[in-house]
Amino acid sequence: MTAHASIKYPRLLVKLSGEALMGRNGFGLDTAVVDRLAADLAEARNAGCALSVVVGGGNIFRGLQGAARGMDRATADYMGMLATVMNALALQSALEAQKAPARVLSAIPMPTVCEPYVRHRALYHLERERIVIFAAGTGNPFFTTDTAATLRAIEMGCNAVAKATQVDGVYSADPKKDPNAKRFDRLSYTEVLGQDLKVMDGAAIALARDNNLPVIVFSIDEPGNVIKLLNGSARATIIHG
Ligand code: UDP
Repeated sequence: MTAHASIKYPRLLVKLSGEALMGRNGFGLDTAVVDRLAADLAEARNAGCALSVVVGGGNIFRGLQGAARGMDRATADYMGMLATVMNALALQSALEAQKAPARVLSAIPMPTVCEPYVRHRALYHLERERIVIFAAGTGNPFFTTDTAATLRAIEMGCNAVAKATQVDGVYSADPKKDPNAKRFDRLSYTEVLGQDLKVMDGAAIALARDNNLPVIVFSIDEPGNVIKLLNGSARATIIHG
């Protein structure tokens, strides 16, 4: 399997929020949804893209929620990171069921469950056409999986980080609540930070800016959109310098 000349992003990292995995359940995992997402990712990998994925954990636990209920923030964040490992394992299982080889690498070592994150291991898997799923965020409290996605995309030498959302790009306001929300095709990092647009947290955008990594925001609700992104035909917002 070799990368097709038509692929716009031969090496791509997709960031999936935990919420993307829960479907309409409101909590936890919806296996039918996980299977559908895995099919989209497998299709991109089969088209020759060296694909990695960062999954969030918000469908199970978020550190800020724990802190709001009186927990120590760092402890709650560790729980959030552990939640991402569960999601990563579910995604790996769904990918392998579709004959797309996948490996989970965790930033918090748990060697009986998955491989620890070692940059060279991850690169090795990508070269062998395995989908690499990065779990446990950055391994540090007070960060988010958006920052982890940007960091890993830079470490893997990706052409872009693609943030999967429920809408087809970045808007000036929530388009589900505000009918006058304006959609952007392109934005600069400075515009995102200056206008405080809800794309990724500031740390993630600043990291992308400092390393010139394009950030793509696209809808994962539309099946087949990952391959469309690779072909350059998906509706999406591109953030770059
Ligand atoms: N988290 C963390 N450090 C990281 C990444 C994540 O502490 O590097 C914790 C944090 O508590 C966060 C939770 O893991 O709330 C789940 O990640 P996130 O909220 O980014 O998931 P998503 O919103 O994408 O589902």
